Amino acid sequence: MSHQARDVFADALQRLDLAAKYAKVDPETLLRLRQPKQFLEVSIPVRLDNGSLRIFTGYRCKYDDTRGPAKGGIRFHQDVSASEVKALAFWMTFKCAVAGLPFGGGKGGVIVDPRELSMAELERLSRGYIRAIAWAIGTDVDVPAPDVNTNGLIMAWMADEYSNVVGRREPGVITGKPVAMGGSLGRDDATARGGFFILKELEARLGWERRKEPRRVAVQGFGNAGEHFAKLAHADGCQVVAVSDSNGGVYNPGGLDIASMIKADHKPGFVPDASVCGPGTRRISNAELLELEVDVLAPAAVENVITEENAARIKAQVVLELANGPVTVQADAILERRGVLVVPDILANSGGVTVSYFEWAQNKMGYYWTADEVRERLGQYMRREFNATYELAKANKIGMRMGAYAHALERLGPALESTGTARRYAKE
Ligand code: NAD
Repeated sequence: MSHQARDVFADALQRLDLAAKYAKVDPETLLRLRQPKQFLEVSIPVRLDNGSLRIFTGYRCKYDDTRGPAKGGIRFHQDVSASEVKALAFWMTFKCAVAGLPFGGGKGGVIVDPRELSMAELERLSRGYIRAIAWAIGTDVDVPAPDVNTNGLIMAWMADEYSNVVGRREPGVITGKPVAMGGSLGRDDATARGGFFILKELEARLGWERRKEPRRVAVQGFGNAGEHFAKLAHADGCQVVAVSDSNGGVYNPGGLDIASMIKADHKPGFVPDASVCGPGTRRISNAELLELEVDVLAPAAVENVITEENAARIKAQVVLELANGPVTVQADAILERRGVLVVPDILANSGGVTVSYFEWAQNKMGYYWTADEVRERLGQYMRREFNATYELAKANKIGMRMGAYAHALERLGPALESTGTARRYAKE
């Protein structure tokens, strides 16, 4: 385990200790949340197209399942490490708790650069990984989903392989499946839509509804989360002044024509040519985008983009974390001092896992909802949890990140404590 890798999990535990000050939890709860309940390392032999054998390393972590089956994605990436998987599973535990879902937290990963594999090799790896962990997952045990470099097709292979192993169809074992295989309508834009519901609640809280000037929004990343969020904000009358991809972004102070940009024939995840973004559009760098004078900055690309180096120059009033971990611990303190309202990832992007929960529930029932029903219920969840977190943060005079962790602990604490603590034994 590299030094850097070890720090990811250590950072996660640091936030646990900070949040514990604001939630009335038994010390034993904190003790139990300091390590995963189960951590598996598996070897996955895969026959490559050239006839040779390659052994891949995979992990699956069931961090906690007191509130329900573990839930969390599977990542295919060359930098996957045991510590990263544990940290991500820890965050899923808190995300599911803050979102009010009856799930614990889990995560999985395989050390692989999927660009090096053919489609057939990728399928053999996906099926091999599921065979290796099949005994440890299940609809009521631990429910995987897509994450970095995995998608609906890979989930379909995995769900199919799981059925082969257990000898029956069990669609609820994995979420993020194609709709034809039991996936939920409304999953495609669920993360962005969840963030958009939060934006609407914030507007009411901050009095923006009464403002004459338009709301100005900048979005970093134009993939699943970023593109859908830009589209929803634009359709609601916001001026989306900048969007970007890994090569840089486009900026138009009068607002980009997001609808035309989405209609334009562009590579998924990439911003189309400036010519379709509206007159007066110019190119900007990702660094410039982050420092624009806007009402809302939505980082929706990668982690650690707001750091102690640029935090003092962030001019947005609100940072809505659609990406996971876009703000470092050091930058967080600077933003808080400067009065920037940060809606943390575990709340802001929880729309994705919430609709995954709806998929799981529909699979268990064998009864499927319309896209409107999914959106309506997503709205209920997002509004409820945003407002509960906002109130908790306000009452304790803390930022929304700590508020979200404390809100999660208020659910995790009683669940863990109901299974027994020393204090309770002493009383009974
Ligand atoms: P995606 O792959 O669809 O899109 C990623 C976007 O970020 C692309 O536009 C890409 O060009 C851009 N990008 C990549 N590297 C960049 C860089 N260094 N600088 C600027 N832009 C860069 O991914 P996604 O599904 O939209 O996920 C984006 C973030 O949201 C991730 O942090 C992910 O964990 C988080 N998230 C996504 C979901 C979901 O349902 N898709 C759910 C929860 C959290």
